Amino acid sequence: MTIQRVLMGPGPSDVPAEVLAALARPTIGHLDPEFLRVLDETQGMLRQVFGTKSALTLPISATGSAGMETCFVNLLEPGDHALICRHGVFGGRMAEVARRAGAEVTLVEAPWGRPIDPDDVAAAAQKRAFKVLAVVHAETSTGVLQDLSPFRAIADSCGALLLVDAVTSLAGVPVNVDDMGIDAIYSGTQKCLSCPPGLSPISFSERARDALAARATPVQSWYLDLTLIGQYFGGERVYHHTAPVNMIFALHEALRLVLSEGLENRYTRHRTQAEALYQGLEALGLELVVEPPARLPPLTLVRIPDGVDDVTVRKKLLTEHDLEIGGGLGDFKGKAWRIGLMGASATPKHVELCLSALADALS
Ligand SMILES: *Cc1c(COP(=O)(O)O)cnc(C)c1O
Repeated sequence: MTIQRVLMGPGPSDVPAEVLAALARPTIGHLDPEFLRVLDETQGMLRQVFGTKSALTLPISATGSAGMETCFVNLLEPGDHALICRHGVFGGRMAEVARRAGAEVTLVEAPWGRPIDPDDVAAAAQKRAFKVLAVVHAETSTGVLQDLSPFRAIADSCGALLLVDAVTSLAGVPVNVDDMGIDAIYSGTQKCLSCPPGLSPISFSERARDALAARATPVQSWYLDLTLIGQYFGGERVYHHTAPVNMIFALHEALRLVLSEGLENRYTRHRTQAEALYQGLEALGLELVVEPPARLPPLTLVRIPDGVDDVTVRKKLLTEHDLEIGGGLGDFKGKAWRIGLMGASATPKHVELCLSALADALS
């Protein structure tokens, strides 16, 4: 039995038919010249979407968390200090990954539902030198968009590389890697890129590549070692692992769709649909968790009204409307819903369906 849902949770988002068709193309070898051509084009399109000229821009063969792990294990050595911003689940995951890589972690925190205060980061950066300063651009657990503009200067003040989680922001809100001076960034395919889950696009700046080359110890993870992976992507085509050929076909098509829409148009579409959703939710008497300046267009947090059972409502949406929205994570478990408007799921139809299904489920 084939089940089709409307995906308006925290990812995966709806996947366009063209992307599913690309996924179903005949599998060819990972060293076939036709595949290598597709791979080169995929890297080129990723550079455009990230806003970078960096050669070391490629999809890691695993989900967004593997991109996170790639950034940390390649840049950190045991005993290094990392300054990590935590204002939700994914900042907490970054801290855990950095600790497992042997780093000493200093946390800067903000309450759930609020952005990190750059002054707090600047104050922590005064206390010592750090190898890495890490921050989540779009915190999918809280629906907060972090303004990245003060972070390059703060990273410079403590000698740190700037590492950014762009899993939910890439292709949904502007992510200008070179302009923002970001040194290491990772994303995922199943959020605003509207491709199935399975790949994690990353990019490393020149400075990050120099730090990698200057390591005293080998990268702790063999699979995620960019010095090895880079030899396959970089031109020598040295076998490292079998590239997930069909996922690359799908990502190539998803990126082609993003660029044919145009990045600015895509950002505007996400903002416009998010505004319509906010208005509709408030008209239903629902309360949004995040204050307007920090709202993340691709993901909205709605407070669950008193006396309403989280699981019952979401079950009703799924079984009666084939609609998936997300439950709360961490501090927001049972207290908030997470409504995604990511990529192909950010349309007027999606907004209308969600509002009418919620009105029905709450009545
Ligand atoms: C989804 C997400 C991740 C993890 O990605 P997976 O593909 O689930 O491994 C990391 N960071 C953020 C901000 C996310 O939204």
